[in-house]
Amino acid sequence: MEILDGKIVSQAVKEELRLQTAQWISEGNRAPHLAAILVGNNGASETYVASKVKTCQEIGYKSTLIRLEENIEETILVAAIEQLNADSTVDGILVQLPLPKQINEEKIIGLINPDKDVDGFHPVSIGRMVQGLPAFIPATPYGIMLMLAHYKIPTSGKHAVVIGRSNIVGRPMSILLSQNTNPGNCTVTVCHSRTSNLKELCLQADIIVAALGKPGFLTADMVKENAVVIDVGITRVADPSKKSGFAIKGDVDFDSVAPHCSYITPVPGGVGLMTIGALMKNTFRAATQSKGN
Ligand code: NAD
Repeated sequence: MEILDGKIVSQAVKEELRLQTAQWISEGNRAPHLAAILVGNNGASETYVASKVKTCQEIGYKSTLIRLEENIEETILVAAIEQLNADSTVDGILVQLPLPKQINEEKIIGLINPDKDVDGFHPVSIGRMVQGLPAFIPATPYGIMLMLAHYKIPTSGKHAVVIGRSNIVGRPMSILLSQNTNPGNCTVTVCHSRTSNLKELCLQADIIVAALGKPGFLTADMVKENAVVIDVGITRVADPSKKSGFAIKGDVDFDSVAPHCSYITPVPGGVGLMTIGALMKNTFRAATQSKGN
């Protein structure tokens, strides 16, 4: 069994971007610029946005963080996005999800200029991805594809089971794995909360991507020998032994599943780190694309 190490792969992605960015700037261009909007004080969102801003600094991007109060009216957020859309010095815009209840997430995502949609959630980005056109790919599935590529994991002709069908993880993951690309060319089964024979399907899988948000859901009795297991889940579980008071748990029962796998991602230290790396790749793409490159 080999660990798919998000730290190593994301470091390689960041280093490549750092060099590309230095080159880009040396050619007389300004640094790529990512603008992040954070609404409210959700603890997990605060952590994610802080890591994104820190990673921008490491690579040499400019970043701007716009913080808005939890109870703002939707119009305030709309105005902030319109301003960033119109600002030619901003290449990428991300709105950290989830948003407070009074705000319509779908509407907000749809307002982002598709040329700056570095999260890849806009319908234009998703449409382009589905058609196999150059596109901003949602960062988590993109990060997983980068990881599969880094470890040269064979995917062609394999049966992949994706557990979860959300717009940000499961659905795009299933599309990417089925595309005629490398990695890709899998036969994909998408499982969700209404799937009746999930264990049976998982036992047929060469690759399992668990993205449902239920800690420890995937257990050893659901996994075929030598399967590749990708754990997307991130759930905060109360843990008084930790200083923070919680531990981060994945959707895979790592200790029981790992001995049966050829490859497995840990949580933390796996997919989460890749997500940020992929976001940074999308931001570089947005910056260079906006110059017509
Ligand atoms: P979501 O709640 O939007 O979707 C969950 C999906 O799981 C749904 O499609 C649902 O049908 C399916 N599901 C729920 N219960 C199920 C069951 N018992 N059997 C089969 N399918 C079931 O969640 P999401 O936004 O896709 O996120 C999933 C997990 O991934 C969460 O833990 C989230 O925190 C994590 N996440 C991690 C990253 C990362 O960078 N690692 C990024 C995004 C999300």
